[in-house]
Amino acid sequence: MEKVIKCDCGVIIQGGNDDDLVVKAQKHAQDVHHLDLSRDQLLDMARPA
Ligand SMILES: [Zn+2]
Repeated sequence: MEKVIKCDCGVIIQGGNDDDLVVKAQKHAQDVHHLDLSRDQLLDMARPA
């Protein structure tokens, strides 16, 4: 099942699978928010697309 993460800033991150989604979301969090989020935190934020 495809999942998306909606960031607090309004950006929606999509990935083809969990690994892809986590990598993209971690990059967004670091680049834009200077935050290090764990895989567990990010998957907790993920919702079905
Ligand atoms: Zn964001």
